[in-house]
Amino acid sequence: MAPRAKPAPDEISDAQLLRYARHVVLDEIGEEGQARLLAARVLVVGAGGLGSPLLLYLAAAGVGGLHVVDDDTVDLTNLQRQIAHTTARIGTPKAASARDAASALNPEVHVEAHAVRLTEENAASLVAGCDVVADGTDNFAARVVLSDACATARVPLVSAALQRFEGQITTFRPWLGGPCYRCLFPEPPPEDLIPRCEEAGILGAVAGVLGTLQATEVIKEILGLGESLDGTLLFYDALATSFRRIAIRKNPACPTCGKTAR
Ligand SMILES: [Zn+2]
Repeated sequence: MAPRAKPAPDEISDAQLLRYARHVVLDEIGEEGQARLLAARVLVVGAGGLGSPLLLYLAAAGVGGLHVVDDDTVDLTNLQRQIAHTTARIGTPKAASARDAASALNPEVHVEAHAVRLTEENAASLVAGCDVVADGTDNFAARVVLSDACATARVPLVSAALQRFEGQITTFRPWLGGPCYRCLFPEPPPEDLIPRCEEAGILGAVAGVLGTLQATEVIKEILGLGESLDGTLLFYDALATSFRRIAIRKNPACPTCGKTAR
């Protein structure tokens, strides 16, 4: 039997029509939107509490090119929340473990594992060619490097953070007039003010809420659906079961995206 002609960029195959049927039936997505998801490329930095649900939902959604960056290995203490990993994969690189989980869920999407730390040296090349980037890292330095690289390349950055029973999420598109990460955090916080996950603790399912919100916002950015979180910080408080939004603005003196920026 002759192989089926490759579908045109705005068409999807019969098998894809079934796999993504619940997307295609949505007027706001349809076959055209699904084809856009299949053609999209997303970089996920961090394969931890946020990156796990994020990658799984993006893979399930058929985001065709997924790149995951993490230089850590799977540890028993991760499994309380980092649901892309398994007990059998303890000790193996997280990037590869997350890739395997995403590929098992949807073998159609191309998932590439980068077992490296995001640095000033490699950030630009990792971000290049991406439609959206998602930040699931746990440290200030990486967040700044990633935000700067995305601002320069004009790639939307969906950024989330977690602590204890709370999380926050926003989207940065500073070239459209909104803030970047440096506008919000011009200086690194003092070390003793940022307790790491192991000290502060985190309710595992809260990572799921924020990672899933991130996946939703990434898909919205790819498709241009609804309202962007650009210019808005959304807080989630699990104990109060409440969401709160605050407006965030560009810092005119921001070295990355302000008036004085190069
Ligand atoms: Zn800025």
